[in-house]
Amino acid sequence: MEIAIIAHDGKKADMVQFLNKNIDILHQENIKIIATGTKGSKAEATGIKVKKLLSGPLGGDAQIAARVAEGKCKMVLFFKDPMSSHPHEPDINMLIRICDVHNVPLATNEATAQLLLNAIAQ
Ligand code: PGA
Repeated sequence: MEIAIIAHDGKKADMVQFLNKNIDILHQENIKIIATGTKGSKAEATGIKVKKLLSGPLGGDAQIAARVAEGKCKMVLFFKDPMSSHPHEPDINMLIRICDVHNVPLATNEATAQLLLNAIAQ
């Protein structure tokens, strides 16, 4: 199962803490993690194997949306920062829409991300 993890700059620390807390689930054999460029490197530092895509503002969110549309990515955990604006807002909205189009579980905050991961814990 391919899971995408994205975090805005203001949520980077929360994302790293979340990954460390859920390391056992994320190390399950059936799980493959993909992430946008910069935060992907942060995620790798926790010891999780991550396939890194482009940085968000350079098209990383769009790449994840494409994988959702193609049926490859089955869950998106998006640590959105509601307190800042982003140059790639259109890409972010597109990713959210594509998840809804394809009925793919999408978390846009940590509490929901935790519920989704708990649902697939073995
Ligand atoms: P980043 O992108 O991982 O390259 O920082 C995240 C985003 O802002 O979508």
